[in-house]
Amino acid sequence: MLVLLDRDGVLNEDRPDFVKSPEELVFIPGALEAVTDLTASGHRIAVVTNQSCIGRGLISRETLDTIHAKLLSTLASKGGRIDHIFVAPDAPWEATENRKPGAGMVKAALSMFRENPENAVLIGDSKRDLQAARTAGCHRILVQTGKGRKTQKEGLDEDLLPVSVAKNMTEAAHFIQSGRYK
Ligand SMILES: [Mg+2]
Repeated sequence: MLVLLDRDGVLNEDRPDFVKSPEELVFIPGALEAVTDLTASGHRIAVVTNQSCIGRGLISRETLDTIHAKLLSTLASKGGRIDHIFVAPDAPWEATENRKPGAGMVKAALSMFRENPENAVLIGDSKRDLQAARTAGCHRILVQTGKGRKTQKEGLDEDLLPVSVAKNMTEAAHFIQSGRYK
């Protein structure tokens, strides 16, 4: 199936002041190994990430590319693969449909991979991840890493349910492998 991953708080530690350099990209233990397991099982994987640090003028697109080069090369060294990274660079005050909770990136991913939403699952730590997936009709997994516990504590609107709650990427990958994401 198509597995869509939020980045910050799912693959790497969320930073309130944004990940602004490759050095600030600190992976959550086990997250890349979980992606590798999904790769090995033949799933296609894409990242859908809001990066308002670009729209806010904090980093350039070139710097973001160096951050993502670190993500991809570290993952590759473990045998994993991310097929595409979708980025919404919008600042919140000029958000397009691409910035989550908008569903633009999720829909673009479904289109690129020619996948039915019923056969796609999004893993995220924020309500806006779940909202974007819900709008596009994809399955939803909330991880408790990053902002995940806070998101869970605040409660999820009924229209976002069902949402599977996983401790981290490791457990989320197990959910996908065993069909426990519906
Ligand atoms: Mg996040």
